[in-house]
This record gives sequence, C-alpha cells and structure tokens, in this order.
Amino acid sequence: MESVVIRDGLTYTNGILTEASVLVENGKIAKISKGSIEGDRVIDASGKLVLPGAIDVHAHTHDPGFLYREDFEDASRAALLGGITAYVEMPLVKDIDDGPSFEERKADGARLSYVDFGIHAGFMRAKNYARIGELNKLGLRTFKVFTCRPFQAEDGILIKLLAESESTGSLMLFHSEDEGILSYYSELFAERRDQLCVHEARPAEAEELAISKIGSYSLLTGGHAHIVHLSSALGLEAISRFKGLGADITSETCPHYLIFTRKDAERLGPYAKMAPSLKGQHDVEELWKGLQSGKIEMVTTDHAPGTHEEKDVGYKNPWQAWGGIPGLATMFPLIYTEGFERGRLDVETLVKVTSENAAKRFGMLGKGSISVGNSGDLMIIDRTYERVVDGKELYKVGWSAYDGMKLKGWPQHVLSGGELAVEDWNFVKKGRGKFIELNPPTGKPRVQPQGL
Ligand SMILES: [Zn+2]
Repeated sequence: MESVVIRDGLTYTNGILTEASVLVENGKIAKISKGSIEGDRVIDASGKLVLPGAIDVHAHTHDPGFLYREDFEDASRAALLGGITAYVEMPLVKDIDDGPSFEERKADGARLSYVDFGIHAGFMRAKNYARIGELNKLGLRTFKVFTCRPFQAEDGILIKLLAESESTGSLMLFHSEDEGILSYYSELFAERRDQLCVHEARPAEAEELAISKIGSYSLLTGGHAHIVHLSSALGLEAISRFKGLGADITSETCPHYLIFTRKDAERLGPYAKMAPSLKGQHDVEELWKGLQSGKIEMVTTDHAPGTHEEKDVGYKNPWQAWGGIPGLATMFPLIYTEGFERGRLDVETLVKVTSENAAKRFGMLGKGSISVGNSGDLMIIDRTYERVVDGKELYKVGWSAYDGMKLKGWPQHVLSGGELAVEDWNFVKKGRGKFIELNPPTGKPRVQPQGL
C-alpha cells in the first residue's frame, strides 16, 4: 500500500485544530508533525480541515431478506462518500443471536464492505436472552433490544437483560418506545390516511416512559444502557435524570431528528416515515443543545432504506409504507452544515459526536481520533465546497429524504484503512474493510473470544 502524506492541513488532533502534516503508512497513522514529511503520495490540505473519519454505530445495511435494497458493498460506498470510515451493522429483520448468524454476517461484511465494520447482536428477547454469556464468548458484546413491537422484550426480560449486561460487561442498546402507548394510538388512528397519523401515533411520551423504565432497571441492576435514535426533548430529560442518579446510560440521536419536524412529514409523506416519529421544533433545538452540552454522546444514521415502491404505497395508506430512510452518505455533511457551520456545535463537539465518542463507548480500538498508531481513517474538508444532495448518486434505492438540500461538509478526500477511498469527491476505493470486534469499556474483564 502506498504511503500518503496529508500536508499542512488544519488537523484535529489532541482536542484542537492545529496546522500539521499527517503520514499514513501501512494502514495506520505513522507520524503527525509541523515539519515537512515525505511519502509516496502527497495531498495538499492547506487551508482545509483534516478530521478523523466519521463513525456510525447504527446502520441496517445487509439483511439477507432485503438485499434488493442494498448490501454491504452499496452501503459502505455511500458511507465513504459522506466521510464515514467505520460503521456497525444492526440487525434489521433476521436475528443475529447465535454463532452461525453472526459468522454469516461477518463473512458477508469481510467480502463486501469497503469500510471497517462491527456487528451488533439482536434482537434479544424471551427466546434468546439466556444466550448473552455464550454470545460474549463469540465476541458479541453489544445487544439490540426493543421495548415495543415488532421484537418486543417484556418487562421481566428487560430487567434480566440489564442484569446480564452488568455480569458480562456487555452493552444493551434500546429502541425505547412504550408499547402500551403505541398500541393504543395505532388502534385509535387505524382508519386515518393523512400523512401525520403514523407520527402522531408515536408521541414523545412513549419514548420518555420507555427510557424511564430502562433507567430504573439500569440503576437497580448496574446494567449498561445505550438509548438508540433519541427523538424528543422529553426523552432527553429522562436520560439526564437517570444519568444524574448514577445510571450508566448514554444515547445517540440521528440527523433526521435534528433537521426535520412534522411539517417535513407532511411535505415528504411516506419518505419521512420512520420510528420513532418526527417531533417538533422545540425537540430539534433541545437535541442540538443536548449534543453541544455532552448530554447526548453521538449521532448515528439509523440508515434503513426502502425502495420507491415500498415507500409509495404510503401515499394511499401511510400504515403500509416502509418505515426508515437511507442516511449513511448525508450524516456527516448534515451535522457539519447544520451544526458546525451554523454555530450550534464547536469543532470539538463535531468530532466527538460524529467519531470520538462512538469509538470510546463501543470500544473500537484505534478509531475515533487522529493519533499515531490509530487506523488511517481521515477526511479532508474544503470549507468552501457545497453540493446539493442527490440520492440517485448516493444510494441503490435512488433517493434521499434530503434530496435538493444544499450541504457543505462533503469530504474532498477520504482515507479508509490507509487507502485513498474518496478522491476529489469521487469514490475510488478498491480494498475491503476489516471486522472490528467491539469491546465496550464497562469495567468488566474482557472475555477472551473463542479460537484466539
Ligand atoms: Zn435502527
């Protein structure tokens, strides 16, 4: 592999932007210095930002039943175009809850993914919760759990899962919405066909109530909880309350909850259907503040594309539309443009919420910062460049909910595993990524994976 020098950029290292050159050699960051460094290939980054590659710990990209939508290859190409150099695959429909299902997804990723990838187990519930210890030994230490349908774990199982997370040092990831509230409204609104019905059926109170339950169980058991795709100010208040009480609870939010409100749901119709639902402008502002204040640790995509066909049925009947949107290519440009360039996030927070904090919480060794010895995962941003989102260029499904929006923050160059992956905003990567074993630092000694 040729060595690459990124010369004289405004480089984010040790928590600050400083003018420096970076040498990437044999897949890793080999040197960071103010003086001139030589290499096989030199990229002039003067006047540009050099940031660690973004990380997304929540992407549904390669479910064996839905490969017509996309696979690891399509998704990781989109990720790189938006500066994401590592992501964690989340189950979509098919469970990853035993050796064979884990090995199959891992092998598919190694064969197809252009970026380094991890895998979450799931969906944990009554039928498989007793397997946490066994899955730990296989190297699976992060588990997706639903508090509601379609993969609901009952209350008695939720507390057991948190107890297991304490005893095994695992991290439990919760889709947090209260099933009682969701069932009540989906029945009450079953005959509605306006585009807001699917959003109004999932109120913020459902999120708040489920998070409060998880928070209490976590406090009682000492379990480790991470709330996925936080969507509301009420949910954020609940998380903050339990953090204050000493629970080990972190969270992520997604660009759509930071950009869109129910006005956009009316405008975009089924193309903005998702779970949790879109909320209001107050929620949007509180979520941005939560990121800047450190109350919310990270941004993820919850990337879950559907085809035009799967979305268009929702114009007649919103209940039937696929609930999910693609997001890998636009996560970083959206947070960069609407967060950093608009002054809602400083540069330190931008890097923390798009890269560093995810690497720390999920234990991704050698990721999340520009430091000697870390993976050669970086991006170079020209602050003057802007481009309109065009889902046709980015995703196999051919659309983005942000189509037509003008964004900055598209990386001019991306290095992934030390290899040039994006050059002058074009995808050029050839090599494949590696599997990342997630090792969340929960204070428990690491279980040695089998076969090592
Ligand atoms: Zn998801």
